[in-house]
Amino acid sequence: MDGMKIGVYPGTFDPVTRGHMDIIERAMQIVDKLIVGVAINADKGPMFSLDERVEMLSEEVAELNLKPGQSIEPRPFDNLLMHFVLSCDATIIVRGLRAVSDFEYEFQMAGMNRRLEPGVETVFLMASDKYQLIASRLVKEIGILGGDVSHFVSPRVTERLLAKFAEINGNK
Ligand code: ADP
Repeated sequence: MDGMKIGVYPGTFDPVTRGHMDIIERAMQIVDKLIVGVAINADKGPMFSLDERVEMLSEEVAELNLKPGQSIEPRPFDNLLMHFVLSCDATIIVRGLRAVSDFEYEFQMAGMNRRLEPGVETVFLMASDKYQLIASRLVKEIGILGGDVSHFVSPRVTERLLAKFAEINGNK
């Protein structure tokens, strides 16, 4: 479709949190089509496989109310982000900004990506204050020690996490 704005929201999504979903909903105020790029990130040692992460995202985004003509598509990628963005015909990279801690890394990455491809703009969105402090890494740490993760992730993702923690704790 001519004039359709396509954005890519890249991340690890291990697993998708309420913070990520808040950013996705906000991004839909800006783009017509959002491709949620799920990075393999093997060096981060993800808890969920790439397929599981994509599947969880697909289930979550299926619940959102979109405007006519809008779409959201989770898609795995393992190449350079900018190459992935161009292969999606996207002109916008969406990132979420949490506290000051995210800033330095994001600032550097946005600057380098602009050098690689001046036609692609990085847009930073801020989650609602309820969700700003959520990080996938902490959700996993809390859950593995038996804490309640349902404040941070959807009921479906909570179930997946509980199953995963049981598997991990059982193997100890
Ligand atoms: P990464 O491994 O690149 O940090 P994540 O899956 O953790 O990927 O996050 C993907 C994107 O979502 C990043 O831009 C991150 O800043 C943003 N994000 C994650 N959690 C939140 C949150 N609670 N509020 C706002 N942005 C968030």
